[in-house]
Amino acid sequence: MTTSPIVAVEVIPLRTPKTAPAGDSDLETIAETVVVQVSDEHGRTGIGEADAPVMAVRELIEMDDAHSLSRGLAGMLVGRDPFGIAALNEEMYSGSIYHGRRGLGIHALSAVDIALHDLVGKQLERPTFELLGGARIPHGTPYATLYAGSVAGRSIEEMMRRLLSLCDQALVLGYTAMKVEVLFEDLIDDRRLVRCVHEARAHLGPDITMMLDFGYRWTDWRDAVWALRRMEDADPYFAEAPLQHDDLEGHARLAERSDIRICGAEFAATRHECREWLERGRVDVIQPDVGRAGGLTEMHRIAQMAADLGALVIPHGWKTGITAAASRHLQTASTNIPYFEMCAPELSGATLRSELVVPEPQVVDGRLELPSRPGLGIDLVPETVERFRARTS
Ligand code: MG
Repeated sequence: MTTSPIVAVEVIPLRTPKTAPAGDSDLETIAETVVVQVSDEHGRTGIGEADAPVMAVRELIEMDDAHSLSRGLAGMLVGRDPFGIAALNEEMYSGSIYHGRRGLGIHALSAVDIALHDLVGKQLERPTFELLGGARIPHGTPYATLYAGSVAGRSIEEMMRRLLSLCDQALVLGYTAMKVEVLFEDLIDDRRLVRCVHEARAHLGPDITMMLDFGYRWTDWRDAVWALRRMEDADPYFAEAPLQHDDLEGHARLAERSDIRICGAEFAATRHECREWLERGRVDVIQPDVGRAGGLTEMHRIAQMAADLGALVIPHGWKTGITAAASRHLQTASTNIPYFEMCAPELSGATLRSELVVPEPQVVDGRLELPSRPGLGIDLVPETVERFRARTS
């Protein structure tokens, strides 16, 4: 098979009705998404998504050109050969730099870039990771995110019961690595938080990889040092978001003093921001999201840069099966992505996570087989798209 030019770039905003009561474990970031579908002359399609406000992304892709540095992304792609993905990515970056460059502009570009990787893979009948240079690892390894929802009046005992039951479910699903979201707001103090972490480790036993997400709990790096030191013997794999996202000096001081890997950068866009996290923030692990940081092109650059600096990348991913698939292909083509974040459909409670694309890969003994189908290896479910397509006015 061969490549053929792009004939259309369609933006599909999707929204599900809010049904979950406050405090339920629904991952609210998956209540909506924006899918980008790029089609070629032969009717082949590639899909991507961004983790960003759906209508804003749609506008940035569909907008008419304002001037040469402020262009709509779709207009730059129609009629073009999709095969030169990195060149197109750079052209979109430069063509939107007046308003884009970081944040939302890059989120929109991310969705398009993922869709191009899917389309070209399908055109060539090769899995997307081969477009990134081929497999560097023998199998995939996701970690399951365990989120008990916001506190919403619950006691710490109720919150921990919910988290530990999610641990049990993740184990049954085949995961051997999981992230416990110890997001208790001001319900408990740091001493109690330390006990909760030990409780989670005791529940999981010594052989499970346990990550911790603190959800920006501390503003003072010394408080974070105090707490993390007392958690070291619970053997957490990493400590995510201990400090405020932009407090890179604080991260550097914490990373210097903690034996636990410090990680962050889940909101970072582009390799330029990620580089700051590594050089100024001195973190061990960065967590950019493929649907926010610049797509597979940029994430692959980020992973290579981090590898050269001796750091790990463990991509963030609180979205649908499109993001999960893209992260999986990225991991396959990288040497320093030991895990990627998986919001398992069974644990997320979000319809778009479980029903937007098929098939869902099976986790066995903590591992995934390498992807083998062309492109990202997933297909949109048309009924789900029609059911949740958001009104466009
Ligand atoms: Mg996070």
